[in-house]
Amino acid sequence: MTDLDEIAGVIEAELCRVQLPLLHPLRSAHGVELVRDLVLVRLGFADGTEGWGECSALARPTYTSEYTAGAFAMLRDQLVPAVFAGEGGELVGHPMARSALVTAYLDATLRGRGQRLVDHLGSMHGRPAVRVPVAAVVSRNADLDLVLAAVAGHVDSGTALVKMKVSPLPADLEAVRAVRSTWPSLAVAVDGNGTLDQRSLSMLDEIGLVYVEQPAPADALLESAKFAKRLSCPVALDESITSVATLELALSIGAGSIINVKPARLGGPHEAAEVARVAADAGCGVFVGGMLETGLGRATALAVAALPSCNLPTDLGPSSRYVAVDLTDPIELDGEGLLPVPLGPGIGVAPHQDRLADVTIERVLLTR
Ligand code: MG
Repeated sequence: MTDLDEIAGVIEAELCRVQLPLLHPLRSAHGVELVRDLVLVRLGFADGTEGWGECSALARPTYTSEYTAGAFAMLRDQLVPAVFAGEGGELVGHPMARSALVTAYLDATLRGRGQRLVDHLGSMHGRPAVRVPVAAVVSRNADLDLVLAAVAGHVDSGTALVKMKVSPLPADLEAVRAVRSTWPSLAVAVDGNGTLDQRSLSMLDEIGLVYVEQPAPADALLESAKFAKRLSCPVALDESITSVATLELALSIGAGSIINVKPARLGGPHEAAEVARVAADAGCGVFVGGMLETGLGRATALAVAALPSCNLPTDLGPSSRYVAVDLTDPIELDGEGLLPVPLGPGIGVAPHQDRLADVTIERVLLTR
């Protein structure tokens, strides 16, 4: 675990709020993202080393309670001052803001040692893969032709799984049915982001899905367990899993059997790797979910996705799926449709300063 109390030697912290236009809007049951509005953290140390981390909170508190402007304020007013004062251990909550800070610290520390994040995690959790299979997440869209065109593109690029964002609305359910009848053997999953009901689930269950993700609201574990009992396909949990403790509770009542692991939601790469390991040891399917990351967040999450516990395709996609120009060197699929883990030390990538300047809308430099 990386406790904030462990972060030592920081002499400055730079917070950048950036807004990257997305190539395609992502519509899920909880809203639509047109521009990726997020906070980046750079920590600088006396010896000249520095590291970067990304806070994946969305612009509005629709996925979890954290949101971009709030995370910026939390980092500026509470987390960074607490780290400077050596009092970070007193603070609770705000896992996405916390994850940005601990990732920046890990990045700097590992760069100083010349070690990759993926190898550091692998030393505790087993030998990592060099590249990982990917799923493609397909946005909700009332225009069925656009949904089918998007899926066709992903099928052509060799995706291992198509995951469709859904709500209980008839158009969403019809879209899943249409995808199944167009590609009868395609691996298809759905993500309800906490909005599904028994009626929509019964219909979806007839389609032959790899899993239904987060059918019930995050804290409705008993409801999720009831759904899991009635469904023939597995229930995956995303928003519900905030720690090893919530994972153990969810598993003990049968609330799900596949776990979506996100370093941002869980407070950092160490926590995510631990949740992945405990889940896999319990016999669960495990994959790393995506948060429309920039290259910084994508590289960080890929280091977790490469661990042996992550036994299902990751939702992390290539840079070019989301943005015209990434903040870092782009991370792209190889010739076999797999996503390689960056080779450099630390998280393996850093922002290009000119690109960062182009998209930064607010910046603050805090010094010790
Ligand atoms: Mg999800």
